[in-house]
Order: sequence, then structure tokens, then C-alpha cells
Amino acid sequence: MHCPFCKAHDTKVIDSRLVAEGEQVRRRRECLACGERFTTFETAELVMPRLIKQDGSRQPFDETKLRAGMQRALEKRPVSVERLEEAIAHVKSRLRSTGEREVKSRVLGELVMAELHKLDEVAYIRFASVYRRFQDLNEFREEIDRLSRDPSLSRDPPKSE
Ligand SMILES: [Zn+2]
Repeated sequence: MHCPFCKAHDTKVIDSRLVAEGEQVRRRRECLACGERFTTFETAELVMPRLIKQDGSRQPFDETKLRAGMQRALEKRPVSVERLEEAIAHVKSRLRSTGEREVKSRVLGELVMAELHKLDEVAYIRFASVYRRFQDLNEFREEIDRLSRDPSLSRDPPKSE
């Protein structure tokens, strides 16, 4: 680590401790050249993969959207906020653990359905019915697009008379 004051290459760690409930390492460093001290924080890089939508477009993972979708399914259901947050944390860690930079949005949908299934049957059915219908609609649209691009199908149908 270069010294931010004199840009010397050698700095020495003089103190190291866990902070933010163990999520971060705080290091106190001292420059061997100029003697200045500074602090660095180290955090594990937990990057969420981007989502590949049905149409091939990419979108960043959006936790707010995920939470809103799950809350909608859980509306008036006997499930605590803590359990919802736990489920969201599960979904996120499963997504991260794929180790992929991009995953199909379908993967996220399936993860959410699996979590809702554990939480509440009604919420699961609500989400699954909306989600599945949406998927089918997209598939339908894709099929229409594919057909309209196919030149062999654009000819006029043969006249029978
Ligand atoms: Zn220095």
C-alpha cells in the first residue's frame, strides 16, 4: 500500500482490528519514509450479479424492488419483518454464491419463490401466479417477435381459389 502523503511504497501496519460487527478490518498504517499515519478499511467485495432479462437486456440487482415484490406477496400474511429480511438475505447470498457476474432473472424469480414457499403458502401462490404469468407473457412476446422476423412466414398465404 502506497503512502498517500509521500507515495512511498513501504508502509507498515501498526494496528489491525475488526469493525462493523466483523464485516470490516480497520488497519492503522505508518509510512516508513515520512512517518505519517493513516487508516485503511478492508471489506469483502460482495458484488451482486447483474440480471439478464428475458429480452436479453441487463439490469442491476435491485434490493428495493425485490423487497417490494415479496412484501406484496406477503401482504396481510402472518410473517414478521425479521423473517422477510432473513429471506431477502438468503436470496442475496444465494445469488452471490453463484459466483457469476450475470444471472438470468428467472434464477432470481425461482430463488424468491423457494423462500416464499418456506415462509407462507399463500404468499408463495400469490407470487408464483403473478410471476409465472409474467414469464409466460414474455415468452409469448418473444415468440411473436421470432415469428415476425422469420422471412419464410412473411409470404402471403397461398390462395386456394
Ligand atoms: Zn509517506
